[in-house]
Formats: sequence, C-alpha cells, structure tokens
Amino acid sequence: MSEFTLTIDGQAAPTHQTIPVVNPATGKPFADCPDTTRAQLDQAMDAAQRAYPAWAADEAARRAAMHACAEALRAKAAEIGRVLTQEQGKPLENAIGEVVGGAVWFDLTAGLPLDAEVLQDDDEQRIELHRKPLGVVGAITPWNFPIILAIWKIAPALLAGNTLVLKPSPYTPLSSLAVGEVLRDVLPPGVFQVVSGGDDLGKWVTEHPAVRKISFTGSVPTGKKIAEVAAPDLKRVTLELGGNDPAIVLGDMDPKAVAEKLFWGAFQNSGQVCVAIKRLYVDEAIYQPIVRELAALAKQVPVGDGLESDTKLGPINNAPQFERVKELVDDAVAAGAKVEAGGGPLDRDGYFFAPTVLTDVAEGVRIVDEEQFGPALPIIPFRDVDDAIERANATHFGLGGSVWTSDVARGTDLAKRLQCGTGWVNQHLNLVPNAPFGGSKWSGIGYENGPWGLAAFTEYQVINVAKS
Ligand code: NAD
Repeated sequence: MSEFTLTIDGQAAPTHQTIPVVNPATGKPFADCPDTTRAQLDQAMDAAQRAYPAWAADEAARRAAMHACAEALRAKAAEIGRVLTQEQGKPLENAIGEVVGGAVWFDLTAGLPLDAEVLQDDDEQRIELHRKPLGVVGAITPWNFPIILAIWKIAPALLAGNTLVLKPSPYTPLSSLAVGEVLRDVLPPGVFQVVSGGDDLGKWVTEHPAVRKISFTGSVPTGKKIAEVAAPDLKRVTLELGGNDPAIVLGDMDPKAVAEKLFWGAFQNSGQVCVAIKRLYVDEAIYQPIVRELAALAKQVPVGDGLESDTKLGPINNAPQFERVKELVDDAVAAGAKVEAGGGPLDRDGYFFAPTVLTDVAEGVRIVDEEQFGPALPIIPFRDVDDAIERANATHFGLGGSVWTSDVARGTDLAKRLQCGTGWVNQHLNLVPNAPFGGSKWSGIGYENGPWGLAAFTEYQVINVAKS
C-alpha cells in the first residue's frame, strides 16, 4: 500500500500494485507509488471526459480556480518540497522554491487573455476568431523539475478549458501525487487527475482515444516515440525535449567576475536542467583563468543530501543517469580529456558524482556531442568567434545558448546567430513567464508559457455571420 494516492475523478483511487521510489541521496527505496492499471487509466480518462463540458463552459470559474490552486499549493509548499527533495535529490530550499514557483505560475496564468477577436465587421459579414479548448490533455513529465514542468502544462491547459491527466516520471512520482491530493479539494472532480506508473503508462496515455493533446517534457528519443504514437489519431503534441546548450565566452570578459555565473549556469540542479550550459566555449585569451576559476568552484561547492541545510548540489537523480554521466566522463578521459576537478563518483552511498570540469576535449567526443545531463562540464577553447558559433550550431539540439561579453550589442548579434529557442546574453538558464519557451531542431516542437503556451492548449474557431 502506498501512502500516496492516485487522483481520479476528484478522489483517491485504490492502489492495486506499487513501484518503489528511491531516495537518490541514499540509493535506497523510501516509499512506494501506485502502479496505475489500464482499467484505472480508463477511469481517469472517463472522468476527464465527463468533467470537460462544464469546465469548458465557465471561464470565470476557471480563472478563480487558478488562484485557488496557487493558494492551496503555497499552503503545502514545505510539505511537497520535502517529498520532492527525498525523491529528486535537490536541496530543500530549491524544492520548496519549485512548488512556490508553481503557485506563482498559476496566479500569472490566471491573468492571460482568452478573448475572441473581431477580424471583420461590416455590412457584408462579421467574422469572429474564438479560442476553443481541445478536450482531454495528457501531460507527461520528467524527473528533473517534476512540479514546475507539470504546472507549465496544468495551468494553461485548465485555464483554456481542457481537462487533464498528468503522468509523472517513475523516478519522481510522489510530489506530483501530492499535488493531486492538494488540488483535488480545489478543482471540480475529473478536471485534474494524477496517475503514476512506469514508462508503459506514458505510452497508454499517449495512445488513449480520449486524449486530444499530449504535452510532453523529456528526452529526444521518448519525444520521437510520442510523436509516432500520437500521429495515427492526429493528436496535437507539444514536445519540450533535450538540449546541449553552448555558452560562448568572449575574450573581453573578466574571468573572476563571470566564473560563478557560468558555474551555476552549468551545475544548477547538478546539471540536470534541460537548458543548463552543457558545452562551454571560451576565447583562448582567457581560457586558462576561466578553467582555474571553474575548477576551484567545482572543488568547493557543498555536495550532499538535499535535506542537509548547507547542501548546494544534490545527487544525480537515478541509477541509469548516474551510470550514464560516469560513462561519458570515463569516455572523455579515455579519449584524452584532462580532469580539472571531480572526475568520478563520491565515495558514499547514493548517486553522488563530484562536480567535474574537463579540458583537452572537443567535438567528436561523446560528452561534447551528447547531452550529459549531469554535473560534468567540458570547456573548449576557441580563437575565432565565427568558428565558435559554427561549432555551437553543429548539432541536432537547439534548446538554448548564450554569449558572454562586455559588448552587449555584439553579444546580442552573436546570440541571434545561435540556432536555438532562447539565446541569452551574459546569463543562461533564466526562464521567464512572459516569453515563449521551446526548442529548435530536435529540442522540441511548440512552445510553453505566456500567451504562446496558452495558445498551444487551444484551437481556433472562426464564426462567420452573414449580414445580408
Ligand atoms: P524521459 O524521456 O526518459 O522520460 C520522460 C517521461 O516520459 C517520463 O514520465 C517517462 O515515464 C515517460 N515515458 C518514457 N517512455 C515513454 C513512452 N514510450 N511513451 C510515453 N511516455 C514515456 O526523460 P527523463 O530522463 O525523465 O528526463 C530527462 C530529459 O528531459 C533530458 O533529455 C532533458 O533535457 C529533458 N528535459 C527537457 C525540458 C524542456 O523543457 N525542453 C525540460 C526538462 C527536461
């Protein structure tokens, strides 16, 4: 029996089977989550379909409900944050911040417009453009930011008038189940369900005939599978996928002044951020001092259990990801990379990996070409910035990228040449609610956040009234 429950039709659903959930700081299971059966998924989809007409009909009630969701989450932020740290590994302060950030997102989403537009109104005809919800949305989320990434989907989907079934990652299901438990007292039954289970459950959600849209955040390979499974039913998809973000540091930067920002751009959440800096290109004029500064920061940052108060970086979330980071670092070293800091697992229980800085490594080595999604950063020198831009763009990924320079106008021009959804200047990782977030190339299809993210949960209907 799990102490965490599925939310189906506004109620806790019985648990038939469970899956153990591991605390990455110990490497040991600490709780169980329900393993949703196909019959339960059908019940969840039925409930979502039944709730849809009434929910879609009352926009004022939906706006009020967004604020009520925000308030309910704020009241439980400390509790949900603790569960998030235990299952994900991140420092408690960041985990609570993620839940509070989700509440802020609900409040901001409540204010987004859904008004109809009048395209033409004359003697001949009146043409109105309306935004209609799609129906039942399936939301599938990863394990790095389970709460905020779910709320980026839940809030706009529900505001637009859809109902939703959320399937979190099997590595971090508990905090999402806890959100279900909180919101089931706030939202009408059937508007929002949370179902936990393995990867197969994600496939069942994607192929379910009740679902009209899949909003997915996760890896490129899974995104491709989802697109394939959604295609025969022409389900709409938004895919927020992986990245291999380059940061390009020009020679006019002060290494000491910029190092800490670069460090956190790469190592935030132990590097498990879709838009973390994953390849750092540095002008050879300041290459050595940048390497020194970043290696020093990597050696001194407190790594530990997220529940301990001085921890700044937690463990890698799960065993396969831990093995993958280890494999990529070992591969780089075998290919001749020099370890400037870290280089391997910490000698303790759990999935702890020392923050790692690598040099003497370049394109053609896996840790540069692939998404490492962990606390290991290759630093690559360049002489000519045009060459750096070309190397930065020579990838299937296109999520984010950044340019660092004291010449902001030049930096802006260079950032525009990066093939990615968000190009930053003198910062990285700063995602804001009032800009669209999405990836170019294999990093995704569609956008989240702001009016663009809301639009992704609607379709147009044109109403054309003859006047004569
Ligand atoms: P993943 O693709 O392995 O899993 C993501 C989710 O998909 C999980 O809930 C999983 O159970 C489910 N899933 C797995 N197979 C499925 C299938 N065949 N059909 C439907 N669902 C299925 O990704 P992950 O390892 O959890 O997350 C890490 C990846 O997510 C990284 O690549 C990272 O860059 C990416 N990510 C992207 C963004 C973004 O906004 N672009 C944000 C965060 C993470």
